[in-house]
Amino acid sequence: MNRKILEIYRQLAQSAGLRMDEASGTVHGLYGSYQVLITPAVSGSNTYYFMPVISIAAASPSHTLSKEEAKDYKREHKNVSLLKEDNRLITLSLKNCRKADRLISTVNEELQSLTFWLRQNGYENCCQMCGKPGDTAAFYVSGFYTNICPDCAQTVSQNAVIARQQEHVKTESLIGGIVGALLGTLIGVLSIILLSQLGYVAALSGVLMAVCTLKGYELLGKKLSTKGIVICCILMVLMTYVGDRLDWAIVIARELAVDFGTAYQSVPYLLQIGVLDSAAYWGNLLLVYLFVLLGAVPTIMNIMKNKKNQDKIFRLQ
Ligand SMILES: [Zn+2]
Repeated sequence: MNRKILEIYRQLAQSAGLRMDEASGTVHGLYGSYQVLITPAVSGSNTYYFMPVISIAAASPSHTLSKEEAKDYKREHKNVSLLKEDNRLITLSLKNCRKADRLISTVNEELQSLTFWLRQNGYENCCQMCGKPGDTAAFYVSGFYTNICPDCAQTVSQNAVIARQQEHVKTESLIGGIVGALLGTLIGVLSIILLSQLGYVAALSGVLMAVCTLKGYELLGKKLSTKGIVICCILMVLMTYVGDRLDWAIVIARELAVDFGTAYQSVPYLLQIGVLDSAAYWGNLLLVYLFVLLGAVPTIMNIMKNKKNQDKIFRLQ
């Protein structure tokens, strides 16, 4: 969150009598008798700061929010884009507030309406994990914000310690990883050839090459370290070249009526004597590499991010 947005969320927290976690900008605290969490909407890799989401862990012995009720609620509250109850979690998403002052006034208004509605329908604040009614606190657990009871907080913290130890003990199998990555690149090579023979130089084949290689390494290598990622990248570069050349070999074998092995070997020669247009050949290869890059960068960034957030647990301040 940049400083300007952080300031808006700080003001929002103040106006509603809540607190803002300085590290994440998440607004949380007790509102009436409900522990609330307010976070910006996140869709894929984009964060929508002016479309906040209010969530409350609560349950009612006599009531469950139905689809019709949610529809009615939305009709009555024009700023609400979504209201749902899912496994003790009440989530209310707001439409784009566009401006800071509007964001603050809308959230305050909707907080009041939502907690009023919850009280009216017998909802009681509860732990999102175990459902026990009573006091909860806002925690960050492996990439998610959640309101949980002290018992569950202790359990997840202990589990995280165990998981971290296990991850530490788990040794990476280099051979397994390379075999897995190679199997992954084969899927990538196959997709490059198939899509190209169908007439596409598609971004999809690049994404498949990247994802399958990295997943293959992780699956058979037990663990994906930075070393593993580097190995995967080298294999991707090599196998993309092979895939592209195999693709040309198929065309050559067909057009010149030679066997496939000869066709594969003759690529450099045919380029040299100009039978293969070198601009087309290298241009095509460059494009394939670009797509692999397009697939690999977000995949690797995602893996790194998940690794960083995995087992990370702390109480919001
Ligand atoms: Zn609990």
